[in-house]
Amino acid sequence: MSEHQSRDDWARLATTLFERPGGVQTQALIDGQFVEAASGETFETVNPATGEVLANVVACDAPEAEKAVAAARTAFDSGRWSRMAPAQRKQSLLRLAQAMEDNRDELALLDTLDMGKPVGSALSDLSGAINCIRYNAELIDKSYGEVAPTDDGSLGLILREPLGVVASIVPWNFPMMMAAWKIGPALAAGNSVVLKPSEKSPLSALRLAQLALEVGIPDGVFQVLPGFGHTVGKALALSMDVDCLAFTGSTGVGKQLMQYAGQSNLKRVYLECGGKSPNIVFGDCDDLDGVARHAAEAIFYNQGEVCIAGSRLLVENTIRDAFVERVLVHARAMQPGDPLDPASFMGAIVDRTQFQRVLDYIRQGQEEGAVLRGGGSAVEINNEGLFIEPTVFDGVTASMRIAREEIFGPVLSVIGFDNESEAMAIANDSAYGLAAGLWSRDVNRIMRVSRRLHSGQVFVNNWAGGDMTVPFGGVKQSGNGRDKSHHSLDEYCDIKTVWMSLDPTLR
Ligand code: NAD
Repeated sequence: MSEHQSRDDWARLATTLFERPGGVQTQALIDGQFVEAASGETFETVNPATGEVLANVVACDAPEAEKAVAAARTAFDSGRWSRMAPAQRKQSLLRLAQAMEDNRDELALLDTLDMGKPVGSALSDLSGAINCIRYNAELIDKSYGEVAPTDDGSLGLILREPLGVVASIVPWNFPMMMAAWKIGPALAAGNSVVLKPSEKSPLSALRLAQLALEVGIPDGVFQVLPGFGHTVGKALALSMDVDCLAFTGSTGVGKQLMQYAGQSNLKRVYLECGGKSPNIVFGDCDDLDGVARHAAEAIFYNQGEVCIAGSRLLVENTIRDAFVERVLVHARAMQPGDPLDPASFMGAIVDRTQFQRVLDYIRQGQEEGAVLRGGGSAVEINNEGLFIEPTVFDGVTASMRIAREEIFGPVLSVIGFDNESEAMAIANDSAYGLAAGLWSRDVNRIMRVSRRLHSGQVFVNNWAGGDMTVPFGGVKQSGNGRDKSHHSLDEYCDIKTVWMSLDPTLR
């Protein structure tokens, strides 16, 4: 429960953060020190709800990537974290999680100011991020290697070892949570981690860097390099001394990272990329109004800037008209509001480029012949900011661009279908395969459809359900990685075989 209850409380906290001595952290953390870039370059981070420049942040580039990777390698080779007893690493990570908890409001507020999400959503992201660090801390001293089934004269050990240096490149839509999903398992496994936050939302990661120093994470083990993708991000991806790239972001950049890995040292590349998720509503589901509310939340939460947004709503034609009416009622109740107001459901779009891109898709949908049933326009809150109404298109066909491309904004495409096999064909007709939802009372259908959906995760009679115990990730061009659960820890470990001959006559 936050002690900040009203918009004014949050606005006061923002003033306190930016006006305290030193303001917010804007420098890169390299080898235990907060530093400027060698070039002296900085970039502005802007509040999309007001247009106000929040801070000038250090713009790291190749020299900083090189220094951070070298420090990460030195730390790794020293064993001060990588060979620390897992139970001790666990204690350090639990201290980090507690520090995040103690600074939860501040971290959430930094994300809200940086990228425009409502503060209520940012707080819930923080809970997810803290939970992820704790989960991985608790996992690491309960994870065993294996003994192979051998004959009497041999002993086969299968050891789990950290990979070495992990570079994590993350997006702006859930800044703290996406960072935690990488940092949690990678640090727990004993790796050194270099985090590159998005240039659109660097502030919470830099605050996290301060907290990591305060709780005693050793120098070089966790470093944060703010800056652009094509500069410092690319340098990390091309580094010959990074062992693993853990990426969340767009499919286009994911493809580039695989090329960089091929051009450099064949580092492992784990990708969590884009989506165009189908949410399938069959005519037999209970409580149409409740399902309609979930369908609206599935696309409008976080202004539609969600990788798993339920952006394609597939509705059985027998109920389509009535169902769309209900979706429209719920959509109208989800208008954007001031992100500092805890009652707001939708906030501002992250920046002008993304804002314009979403509006272009809305125009394109109309040009393609889809029927605009609700929203479709930009709005201002307090006479400023980059806000877009929850927008619903009906009569969308599977070939339209608004049904095929990831818009990453509050735009829902409703597509009708007549039967299960048609629904399956439309749902799977996508380059993406991140998430899918289905709503039905028929358990046989639920099992049939769940198995046939080409998707990393299927939500049955819910949207976006799940906790730390289950993996999160996609298939096809949505990526190849898995965040959360013990499966994500596996990604940050190597498997080493040690085969021992016990029979002295064999030596
Ligand atoms: P993006 O791909 O533009 O940027 C992501 C990160 O990559 C940023 O830190 C950016 O600076 C960096 N980057 C950009 N170009 C780079 C390059 N050439 N080399 C190295 N790094 C580079 O994505 P975005 O706009 O920040 O985020 C939105 C995208 O993220 C959407 O496609 C969304 O679906 C996806 N996403 C996926 C998941 C998931 O779990 N699958 C979760 C959240 C967001």
